[in-house]
Amino acid sequence: MRAVVTGGAGFVGSHLCERLLHAGHDVVCVDNFMTSSADNIEHLMGERHFRFCRWDVTQGLDVPGPVDAVLHLASPASPADYLRLPLETLRVGSAGTWHALDLAAAKQARFLLTSTSESYGDPLIHPQPEDYWGHVNPVGPRSVYDEAKRFGEALTMAYRRSRGVDAKIVRIFNTFGPRMRLDDGRAIPTFIRQALREEPITVTGDGSQTRSLCYVDDVVDGLMRMLDSSHGGPVNLGNPHEVSMLELAQWISKLTRSGSDVTLIPRPEDDPKMRRPDITLARDLLGWEPTTPVERGLCDTITDFRRRLPFSEFAERD
Ligand code: NAD
Repeated sequence: MRAVVTGGAGFVGSHLCERLLHAGHDVVCVDNFMTSSADNIEHLMGERHFRFCRWDVTQGLDVPGPVDAVLHLASPASPADYLRLPLETLRVGSAGTWHALDLAAAKQARFLLTSTSESYGDPLIHPQPEDYWGHVNPVGPRSVYDEAKRFGEALTMAYRRSRGVDAKIVRIFNTFGPRMRLDDGRAIPTFIRQALREEPITVTGDGSQTRSLCYVDDVVDGLMRMLDSSHGGPVNLGNPHEVSMLELAQWISKLTRSGSDVTLIPRPEDDPKMRRPDITLARDLLGWEPTTPVERGLCDTITDFRRRLPFSEFAERD
């Protein structure tokens, strides 16, 4: 199979490119490094079956030769990124998705959209099944991401229905693992960085808000299974095990053996209070569920952060 991965130099995308290569496929990775860097794919650059193309997918997407699958991951994903890049986020979610779907249609390739649990907004139903339509503020600051993804979902379904494209949607819940950007602003990178630097660990609100945390290898496994299935989705991919932000901060403090205290700071606008996927569909359709214990995933992520944080920036403890 020859697969095009947009956003392939990002956190999830780089792990996906690796997995596709290990499965024996050819990979064309398309990325403009808007929220990532070449470091994530440096180790793949020499591979015979890997090609990298530095390109903004909102400008069109033309890949010479056969293409069997288009996996569309290009989009800022962390709140800090999409709040800083509101128009770019809307453009890649709309025009970028349109071009990626056009490529799939032209090549008669399968298409996979990585949508998000943010499609559910601040949910009123818990846990969230795929047939819940969500509770999204369409004009709040986070709407640039939520609505771009919801538009991308509608577009994907329209191509499936009207153009016969074998197009599928997954809704990914919070994912973590090695190669997350140290400064990406999400809870896990922030807490690990603060803990390693022996700075106060900043938890927003009273810390009771929850997230479900899924290790990146499990999410990539779900993406591969969805690509191979005949179902269009949307299908939730995430870990149903919920953790409060206060618990997570204390957990990371323990695993890093940090002396940092936990400090409470104000919660950002429209920050969802709880998130937990209902993964019945993923279990039934894909035979998928997360298998990596969160603690093991956190340890791997901490090891990766220790390796990448400039030595001068953290206090080593044993
Ligand atoms: P990321 O920011 O690390 O990766 C996104 C990649 O897309 C980056 O490499 C960025 O440079 C690239 N990109 C953005 N705009 C582009 C453009 N116009 N042209 C070409 N490349 C462009 O984010 P991630 O965490 O790896 O997320 C990957 C996908 O998964 C995103 O679509 C995101 O919405 C989705 N997702 C991620 C999570 C998560 O917890 N990480 C949760 C839900 C959904």
